[in-house]
Amino acid sequence: MDTIHVSASKQYDVLIGEGLLDRSGELTRKVVRPCKCVIVTDDTVDELYGDRVQISFSYSGFEVTRFAFPAGEASKSLDTLAGLLNAMGEAGLSRSDLVVALGGGVVGDLAGFAAAIYARGIRFVQVPTTLLAAVDSSVGGKTAVDMPFGKNMVGAFHQPELVITDTDVLRELPALQLSNGSAEAIKCGLLNDPALFSLLEGGDWLGQIDEVVARCVAYKRDVVAADEFDTGSRALLNLGHTFGHAIESCSGLTVLHGQAVGIGMLMACAAARCPEAMILRLAACLRSNGLPTHCDYGASALARAALSDKKRAGGTLTLVLPEEIGRCRLEKIDVATLPACFERALAAQEALGL
Ligand code: MG
Repeated sequence: MDTIHVSASKQYDVLIGEGLLDRSGELTRKVVRPCKCVIVTDDTVDELYGDRVQISFSYSGFEVTRFAFPAGEASKSLDTLAGLLNAMGEAGLSRSDLVVALGGGVVGDLAGFAAAIYARGIRFVQVPTTLLAAVDSSVGGKTAVDMPFGKNMVGAFHQPELVITDTDVLRELPALQLSNGSAEAIKCGLLNDPALFSLLEGGDWLGQIDEVVARCVAYKRDVVAADEFDTGSRALLNLGHTFGHAIESCSGLTVLHGQAVGIGMLMACAAARCPEAMILRLAACLRSNGLPTHCDYGASALARAALSDKKRAGGTLTLVLPEEIGRCRLEKIDVATLPACFERALAAQEALGL
């Protein structure tokens, strides 16, 4: 088992290893004394792992209730949040009790936000069950729900007490889920870790998934320690996301987050005028991980979608521009130049046959 210690406004460990799901209660008890807890999950994950986690927490002395909502991004809403808060109230949770987020990014964001605001903030534990959540959203304390006017527009910074990642669970994921999560891992490689990028390039890294997750979490730990509240360098983690969110939103969320971020990273390389060989290397890496490289939307539609993105601050927007594999920089651009930026990226992609 790998332990990565995060030092933010709260100190906590991220545990990564095989067979941790059935030990989740025992591992949690080392940092949270047994209390009431609500396991929050979606119906897909509930069916697969809900009983095992409930048994583990009950066995370790926690008084457990379970709340499962329909799987999918559409559930990351104020409605689901209200249902969850009511369930927590009915279960009699107090300030000293616990939320356990068992699932992917939607579950972690929603359950984390409920924990952030219930009784003005209670503790929570993340048990990510998707690669995307394991390498990205479960670490760093960002929680939120989506609003009609934008993704993640209402939320809070609220760090977990503990993150428990069972890599056996990740190995059992359907190919599409693994592929979707691999985009955020490729992002970490492109941002900071050429060795990780090389490992992912082959597309055949399932045997080293513990290492992949640990490398991503270690990087995220460093970024969060430097800029927990996202006022500066944490923006690096948005690599591919300005373009990616625009693609997601143009597709009506039919393009998955990781797929969109993959294409977004290619567009960021093109916008940064990276060498052709580097862009093609990234494209090959995405393809070998089952990710698309072609953007189906035009520059003006993408720019419109991007400008409703929350990362816009006043008349400027910060882009993450790759320089080489393992190094990127931040650049503030005038939002007025964004459509031209999309056009340049799309043109470069087309020229490269992507
Ligand atoms: Mg992301």
